[in-house]
Amino acid sequence: MRTTSRTWIANPAAAWTSDDNADCRGGIVVEGKRIVECVPGGHTPADYSERFDARGLVLLPGLVNCHHHFYQTLTRALPAAQNKELFAWLSALYPVWAGMDEDCVGSATELALAELLLSGCTTASDHHYLFASAFENAIDIQVETARRMGVRVVLTRGSMSLGQSSGGLPPDHVVQSEQAILDDCQRVASAYHERGDDAMVQIALAPCSPFSVTAELMRESAKLARAHGLRLHTHLAETEDENAFCLEHVGRRPLEYLADLDWLGDDVWLAHGIHFTAEEIAQLGTAGVGICHCPSSNMILASGLCSTLDLEAAGSPVGLGVDGSASNDHSNLIQEVRQAFLLQRLKYGSEKIAVTDALRWATSGGARVLGRPSLGSLRPGALADIALFDLDALRFSGAGDPLAALVTCGADRARHVMVNGQWRVVDGEIPGLDMGALVARHGKAARRLQLG
Ligand code: ZN
Repeated sequence: MRTTSRTWIANPAAAWTSDDNADCRGGIVVEGKRIVECVPGGHTPADYSERFDARGLVLLPGLVNCHHHFYQTLTRALPAAQNKELFAWLSALYPVWAGMDEDCVGSATELALAELLLSGCTTASDHHYLFASAFENAIDIQVETARRMGVRVVLTRGSMSLGQSSGGLPPDHVVQSEQAILDDCQRVASAYHERGDDAMVQIALAPCSPFSVTAELMRESAKLARAHGLRLHTHLAETEDENAFCLEHVGRRPLEYLADLDWLGDDVWLAHGIHFTAEEIAQLGTAGVGICHCPSSNMILASGLCSTLDLEAAGSPVGLGVDGSASNDHSNLIQEVRQAFLLQRLKYGSEKIAVTDALRWATSGGARVLGRPSLGSLRPGALADIALFDLDALRFSGAGDPLAALVTCGADRARHVMVNGQWRVVDGEIPGLDMGALVARHGKAARRLQLG
């Protein structure tokens, strides 16, 4: 006799599976933490014990965010950092971020995860790379917060080891020694990294960028990651300034530098990936390196335009990221789908980029970038991470195609979100979360940080 319930998410207005062959127009059936059946339009599942009425709702696989800096929610729209490109923007913000404490990281993580969840995101990757000497437990705080909220996370242990006195961009007081970094990477990986396709918490290693990390740390991080079966992440090819920095300091373009450090493999994903030549795109594709496209950040910092379709054609998985909230400045992934759709249309034209391309990057593409094939689609056997959006707002009235309307009319909030078979957003709210108290605590931490 069966002991777990089987819930039919029944008859949505539209269902997009991310797999062109599957027909889920009648909804899906969830048992435990997995999707067990795709129900074709007009059909009833053979076996179900509960029925969730999804009429009027658009059903998607839960969205996957491949790059973020949760702590940057504390420095959104900061006057000192506005109207700048990446290097000047970072230089204005490093000294502010250096003042973070445990309460800052805790409230920023909770706020960013709440924002992401409410936008339909079920898996979030974060890149935390500021570890002041008196405060090294940022990843521990993030793990505790994500587990409490029930969001699936890939937390990357970031790092900076190349301070200004050694030719790097960040001030010396925000970088750590290579040994301290590697020791802590080992510690958090041993303590928190879960294996298995249903992992809720995973750890990856993420030296920050070519202009803030030594070659030695890049090499040692790759060795450590591969010894423990962890993925590798970094920022790369974000700006022309970075190209110039690499040519001047290491005598090579960023990708050639990365290749020499043994970083080209299908266990690596890169944030931004904009300024590549055609040969470099072919090289990335052959190696299977994943790229996280961050459209809003790339527009705010005027960094450039990612060649998404060329990268995919070459063989690289492409995902989406909201990037840090100091260069977006929100953590809303369904809005980022719209930004990607619009920006990539400017690059490739309206016949080459469909709504479903942007949705693919935000779901199955992101899952491939993070090495998680059980996420990002609605097929039987996939994990039950799903998002349901309603079309009740003024902005959707009169829309013909419900799936396209979600993106072109600009959905900004999911109605219901399930992670690992558990409802984490119900009727547009996160059960058990006192939003007012969270905003008050986060706002107070932000003011304290900004005032120094
Ligand atoms: Zn970033």
